[in-house]
Amino acid sequence: MIIAVDGPTASGKGTIAKALAAHFGLPHLDTGLLYRAVGRQVELNGGDPDSPDDALAACDFADDLLGDPELRSEATGGLASRVSIHSVVRQALLDRQRDFASQPGGAVLDGRDIGTVIAPNADAKLFVTASIQARAERRWLEMQGRELDLELREIEADIAARDERDITRTDAPLRAAPDALVIDTSSLDRDSAIAAAIRAVENAVSARQ
Ligand code: C5P
Repeated sequence: MIIAVDGPTASGKGTIAKALAAHFGLPHLDTGLLYRAVGRQVELNGGDPDSPDDALAACDFADDLLGDPELRSEATGGLASRVSIHSVVRQALLDRQRDFASQPGGAVLDGRDIGTVIAPNADAKLFVTASIQARAERRWLEMQGRELDLELREIEADIAARDERDITRTDAPLRAAPDALVIDTSSLDRDSAIAAAIRAVENAVSARQ
């Protein structure tokens, strides 16, 4: 069974994808981490994230980089969003994601274009979203103790800029697949959001049988 979980940053899609993987006993791939690694590698190379050539050169990052805690920072998230605009980067990361999705037994993948591009035949597709205020607050709480200098309004502005880039890019823009079930987590706590996602997957799978 392939489960596609898409949505904007800090919507809760990562938490939901991990919980679905545990519940259904499937491996999980956070595809945002791949784009973050490319963004970080461009920086380490001293390149320009807005240059398709520099971004493409960064796609052969070493696997070790995926464990770098710097990948989780807001700054790297911003770089990821800039490199992800380039079609050459999306193409370079495509096989790795498709191979993961098509492994025997299935998988859970979360990202922006899983249900639309990477796994359009997924058995269940979720689009997890939340208001920008709810997402900024969550990100701010997550950052306490890590990046204390960031204020809530800076995070909100950063999330808005990333949404804009993700939604307006021509290649694989962020959007819900027509057959995705939308879960708005703005007023849901963690457990209720996970329970709603599990129900949605069970319904999607039984509808296909
Ligand atoms: O999900 P996360 O915030 O870690 O993703 C970082 C950035 O990588 C996103 O803002 C988005 O621009 C890009 N991304 C993407 N396609 C994916 C996953 C992430 O373009 N499947």
